[in-house]
Amino acid sequence: MTGPNRLRDGKGTAPRPIILTSHPQRGGAKALPLHWGAAEPARRGPVIATTQDPAARNAIGTHAGSYALYRALAVASGQLRADHRPDFRDTRPAQPIGPFPAWGDPAKIVSLDPFGHMVPELYAEQLAAGLDIRPSIAITRAHINMPELADAVRAGRLAPDGAVLLGNGDVRVTKIAIEPVWWLPGIAARFGIDETALRRNLFEQTGGMFPELVTRPDLRVFLPPIGSMSVYLFGDTAKLGQAETRIACRIHDECNGSDVFGSDICTCRPYLAHGIEACIGMAQEGGVGVIVYNRKEGRALGEVTKFLVYNARKRQEGGDRAEQYFQRTECVAGVQDMRFQELMPDVLHWLGITRIDRLVSMSNMKFAPITASGIDVVERIPIPDELIPADARVEMDAKKAAGYFSPAVPDAAELAVAKGRAL
Ligand SMILES: [Zn+2]
Repeated sequence: MTGPNRLRDGKGTAPRPIILTSHPQRGGAKALPLHWGAAEPARRGPVIATTQDPAARNAIGTHAGSYALYRALAVASGQLRADHRPDFRDTRPAQPIGPFPAWGDPAKIVSLDPFGHMVPELYAEQLAAGLDIRPSIAITRAHINMPELADAVRAGRLAPDGAVLLGNGDVRVTKIAIEPVWWLPGIAARFGIDETALRRNLFEQTGGMFPELVTRPDLRVFLPPIGSMSVYLFGDTAKLGQAETRIACRIHDECNGSDVFGSDICTCRPYLAHGIEACIGMAQEGGVGVIVYNRKEGRALGEVTKFLVYNARKRQEGGDRAEQYFQRTECVAGVQDMRFQELMPDVLHWLGITRIDRLVSMSNMKFAPITASGIDVVERIPIPDELIPADARVEMDAKKAAGYFSPAVPDAAELAVAKGRAL
């Protein structure tokens, strides 16, 4: 049968009925219950966001964040079977993480699934029974190598030890990819808003992509189509979760222009490299270094907005200067920042961290939520002046004046001086 409710995939596969997910399936008690914050994984239950069996879903949205749209293209063009199931053989974590006490606290972790890396192991029985359950976290090992680290060795700030930092400049790391998994009641509580208002705005601001947000109050976990998070760990990860383990940490929000291409309008890559240097140092002292890299381009306003703001800053009367830095962003975006650091500490709790000995950040927007979430910060490390690129002075002055942690705060006259390059 073909018709408006039958759909044929791109090439050769059998027609599939369109199944709306906006209301429970008939006889719909099939989905496994989720008890968010339960310490026991069997009681917590797996997050099931399969696109293959609507009745089995106990979450809204699906895996892979925005990459789900590429999966749709692959299926539509006949290159991927809609019913493909991953073969998880040999994919288990290269290093174990947890469990830690915060995993059993529904208020401490609301934006990722603490059991997300252990899915094939914890829910083997359900997988064997045919349920499509997927990991939302993967953990592997790698070597990284950055020219800034070679500079640090030449300058005598770092020395190869053959374990963390090798003679050829390679650094041994454990790297972790984490997809967002939102416990909606917990997200709403974190922002002090009503869950219904949260769900309605998520529905409306995605152009109605996820009707279940407004029609299925029984589904309370949402896999949002936003960027993921990467964690790079330096040193012996088995020491995580032990109170005596000293931790160096940088929480870094993505800046493709600087991080990857070395653009000099901001301090992002130099600060990231400085953070990695601090992490290597801590690992060499027997502690653990933690870099969290959030896909939140341009303060989560996106790169198009970011580049529009650059033009507005450089074309404005009086030139690019610190006193106008945040205002130019607000003119274009309506706000100065949408990173919502309220959710950021979750990953630290997932890693079993209760104290950060060296926080490589000047940002109060990061410091405040970390300490408010119950993690002690012993020392805050600003970026050394000599690492700040020339065109980034505007950003640096503006941030210091706005309350970033800094030994010296620029005055009004200083902020009015045009320091950025013109277009
Ligand atoms: Zn940047």
